[in-house]
Amino acid sequence: MTPEELLAADREHVWHPYGPMPGVREPLLVESARGVRLRLSDGRELIDGMSSWWAAIHGYQHPVLDEAVRDQLGRMSHVMFGGLTHEPAVRLCARLAEITPEPLRHVFLCDSGSVSVEVAVKMCLQYWRSRGLGAKRRLLTWRGGYHGDTFQPMSVCDPQGGMHSLWSGVLPEQVFVPAPPAGFDADMDTAYVQLLADEIERHADELAAVIIEPVVQGAGGMRFHNPRYLHVLRELTLANDVLLIFDEIATGFGRSGALFAAGHASVSPDVMCLGKALTGGYLSMAATLCTPEVADGISRGELPVLAHGPTFMGNPLASAVANASIDLLLRQDWAGEVARVEAGLRAGLAPASRLPGVCDVRVQGAIGVVQLDHAVDMATATKAATEHGVWLRPFRDLIYVMPPYISTDAEVSAISAAVVAAAGVG
Ligand code: PMP
Repeated sequence: MTPEELLAADREHVWHPYGPMPGVREPLLVESARGVRLRLSDGRELIDGMSSWWAAIHGYQHPVLDEAVRDQLGRMSHVMFGGLTHEPAVRLCARLAEITPEPLRHVFLCDSGSVSVEVAVKMCLQYWRSRGLGAKRRLLTWRGGYHGDTFQPMSVCDPQGGMHSLWSGVLPEQVFVPAPPAGFDADMDTAYVQLLADEIERHADELAAVIIEPVVQGAGGMRFHNPRYLHVLRELTLANDVLLIFDEIATGFGRSGALFAAGHASVSPDVMCLGKALTGGYLSMAATLCTPEVADGISRGELPVLAHGPTFMGNPLASAVANASIDLLLRQDWAGEVARVEAGLRAGLAPASRLPGVCDVRVQGAIGVVQLDHAVDMATATKAATEHGVWLRPFRDLIYVMPPYISTDAEVSAISAAVVAAAGVG
């Protein structure tokens, strides 16, 4: 098919994420991707400032990751996981248990971040049921969060004005509290801590878990929070017999500057969700980890199994490339690379703060955000960025980037220049 025929067929048959979006131009047709660059059908090359939505931390066509997939293809691409097991998945689960905060130890592999959140919620509900506390089935979360697009995750996205506001009334009703103020300080923000404590205590009999995105609240608004808040939350959840879920789907594998954002505060949740960069962005895979306490609780229940089993669970290709991606990350000075990208973004995005209409510029790890005082004109902002040779995907009032960690200093500067240009016109 010619590029024109492909785009015509795309218009006719294909749904894209959150599409069709009013005012958004036709998608760009990508022919190949290598390193940090996407190659379009018209011959243009764009640096991917988005790492394909936080996933492609090592860039595209990385020789080590390509080899891992090829090698695994020579053995088996998929077998069912019920009653069978295999080295790539076993190695991956053991590795995840090793590198995530103690005492997370039991790993459920699935195929998307949203499903890993479903599984996390199911783990918590089953845990309380097995302890005879089936009334503990609600969740407490922050306003403005984002945890995915299936029904339990949608219920913990803010139903008032958030992405899934369409579904309020249909979704389970959860308990919402405001997200902590950006510079949260437990000694200063006593009114906030009191409110959080009151809500957790008031609902403790019906709360299964608190779920949040630690340190970086992503798709709900790209806000950064002081890690010290996690200590307060951990203490309150322990004191009130409520489990704590960290959704590290976006923050996992170094993005926020710590291997896992929980590490900024050395706080361990009871359940943790991972996805996106788990396979270096190569294949669809996510994971939910829990502590022995949660796993043992489930196995003492009236149904002593975790009642979930996706067809493509533990997919060997995805497991093999996840193993390779984690090895690749940890073999290098990943923290140094993320810090280098962070420094480049800080320097490169600074001029945006002087632009009219820009109300905040913030950087955390390999994440850079420019916030406007108005909704971004997506088409104009994207066009300005592509004219600078960079692929961006602004949303709401935000122009943000999370470059692959392999981006050179020159590429980080090009990405930053494109963000500044997009902020200037968007
Ligand atoms: N949680 C967070 C924090 C996310 O950023 C996302 C994806 N943007 C999800 C959950 C859902 O993951 P997926 O798109 O793989 O279902």
